[in-house]
Amino acid sequence: MDPAVLIADLIADIRYHDHRYYVLADPELPDGDYDDLRHRLLELEEAHPDLVAADSPSRRIGAPPSDLFAPVTHRERMFSLDNAESPAEVAEWLARAERHLDRSAGSLVCELKIDGLAVSLTYEQGVLTRAATRGDGMTGEDITGNVRTIASVPLRLLGDPPAYMEVRGEVYLPLDEFDRLNARQAEAGDRLYANARNASAGSVRQKDPAVTASRNLAIWIYQVGYLEGGPALATHFETMEWLRGLGLRVHPGTENVTDVAAVTGYVERVRAERNDLPYQTDGVVIKVNGLAEQAELGSTARAPRWAIAYKFPAEERITRLLGIEINVGRTGAATPFAVLQPVFVGGANVERATLHNEDEVHRKDVRVGDQVVVRRAGDVIPEVVGPVPSRRTGEEKKWSMPSRCPFCEAPIVRPEGEKVARCTRGLACPSRLREWLFHFTARGGMDIEGMGYKTIDLLLSEGLITGPADIFFLQPDALLGFEGWGEISVNNLMKAIETARDRPIGRLLVSLGIRHVGGTVARILAREFGSLEALQDADEDTLAAIEGIGPVIAESVAGWFAEQDNRNLVRRLGEAKVRLSDPDWGQGPEKTLQGVRLVLTGGLESMNRNGARAAVEERGGKLVSSVSKKTTALVAGASPGSKLAKAESLGVRVIDEGTFLRLIEHGPSALDEASMLS
Ligand code: NAD
Repeated sequence: MDPAVLIADLIADIRYHDHRYYVLADPELPDGDYDDLRHRLLELEEAHPDLVAADSPSRRIGAPPSDLFAPVTHRERMFSLDNAESPAEVAEWLARAERHLDRSAGSLVCELKIDGLAVSLTYEQGVLTRAATRGDGMTGEDITGNVRTIASVPLRLLGDPPAYMEVRGEVYLPLDEFDRLNARQAEAGDRLYANARNASAGSVRQKDPAVTASRNLAIWIYQVGYLEGGPALATHFETMEWLRGLGLRVHPGTENVTDVAAVTGYVERVRAERNDLPYQTDGVVIKVNGLAEQAELGSTARAPRWAIAYKFPAEERITRLLGIEINVGRTGAATPFAVLQPVFVGGANVERATLHNEDEVHRKDVRVGDQVVVRRAGDVIPEVVGPVPSRRTGEEKKWSMPSRCPFCEAPIVRPEGEKVARCTRGLACPSRLREWLFHFTARGGMDIEGMGYKTIDLLLSEGLITGPADIFFLQPDALLGFEGWGEISVNNLMKAIETARDRPIGRLLVSLGIRHVGGTVARILAREFGSLEALQDADEDTLAAIEGIGPVIAESVAGWFAEQDNRNLVRRLGEAKVRLSDPDWGQGPEKTLQGVRLVLTGGLESMNRNGARAAVEERGGKLVSSVSKKTTALVAGASPGSKLAKAESLGVRVIDEGTFLRLIEHGPSALDEASMLS
């Protein structure tokens, strides 16, 4: 695709998410996904410097201010921070700074990176005259009225304040206030904030200062932006001490350190203690201490060169296990999951976490009512790590798998020796059906964009579908008018369904959710039979005779197609014009020989040279004319030439025609078999 188009698309995406995050305080994407978008943009811009737009988000900070508040032009720009994720990256940053300075950067300062909202406070003759958000770094929003309600923001400075000063800090919502706020929101039926950072941004940017006041926000100050008058200051650390003396709230954990090893020690201490802090921190900010050095280093378009944020990747928190419930998946598997007292962990509010299976619950000895450690590392599904037995009161209850499915009341059975307990109802169980539909429409299957759980739930509850084939009979009018279903979204869904009609039958096979039929098995079956009609008439023995299909898979596939409901489904899919055969399969064999380089010498009985070349190349391999160290094998036919001696002298493998034919048929594993036999 044209990189200019890709870049334009990414920019549009990032702008949209920036607006949701910075202006609406209601992000749609997890930070990791958003960071990926930025990362892709940066990569493309690096590869195509001529395509970097002047207003690209890679060069910008935050988002332009909203029109809810009056604009404020910052006297000195407010910046974001570059990130490091390891001590090595911190060392790289420092080395870069020292190259820029052409001398040592001197000492460093470590501070907590508070996860809230950057604000700028202006004090004139010691009186707070203005507070503003960062906005896009140049222009922020005037939030003076709201910030005045924050108890830890002094309205008047102590001691001997300078004539004019602008300081920066992070307004944040203490975690207990965050929990309280979300509990209130839930009670009022309002939306919950995804995390404390969004809640602080939302709280600061209220139209009514009384609402801001009710949120009990707090602030930590970490920088002077602009100063007129005041003492001569040489270092950042000294500046922080001075600000503290003026009555501004500077974090007591700020530390002056000498090198990267000390930074690592600081980071590790914060990492260990951060879950005990009453506010959210997402890392450590490391700054060059000397103000002369800072001035010399200056900034890039987005961030100062004299500071870097070391961001924490994962997190664990303790919360209460309120209950254990079960999910019933598309195969009927009943999986226990934890219902938790909502907890802010790894950047999000977690209310549910996986417990894997019944044995795991017993192995970990997790009991209902326990305080448990919940881990949410990156985008991995949150999990219960284990209980905190020291916090037990004796009221906790052991759990066991229910005997009946909570969705359909059918018995749940766990066959002897199996790990998994299952609902016995089949697809009449509403939970199984819902999960199957999700699987059917998901990426690896029919890949119908827009068919998430939300849509499936709507379609099921409105009786618009009762099974997968119904999806292809959906009429646009049936959906129009439901909440969130305007003409554009309905059309998009219809287009996605239309596209899905033509998926290769391997994908259709995966989507059917036949036990043991994943991508590889589906491809084998598709290639072997070429159509679902042919496959559904194959008996177990025929299936089991196919290379790559064992007796268990054969039984499962034959058993699936033996059920009348399933045959009806295939028939209905055909009626819905879903592709049930793959005429192309015969033409393009699997690329099993990618990276394989062969040389042929002498004549083959089964094919001529061109035939051999075609057979190798269709499968992604190469047939080259001379032997080198890179040659995978020399195929020696009748009356081989000098290439044979060359191959032997270079230690290149020599194979006969039989092995060559097996190589074509089965891929490189045929070479291993040949060597095991020789
Ligand atoms: P940032 O939050 O990573 O770092 C810069 C900010 O750190 C500063 O502006 C300041 O407010 C703050 N900070 C806290 N303690 C500090 C200290 N001691 N010294 C200096 N600064 C301190 O960068 P950003 O540009 O504000 O935001 C980027 C973050 O926002 C990323 O994590 C990104 O994933 C997220 N984001 C997410 C979405 C989304 O859709 N999910 C959209 C936009 C941004």
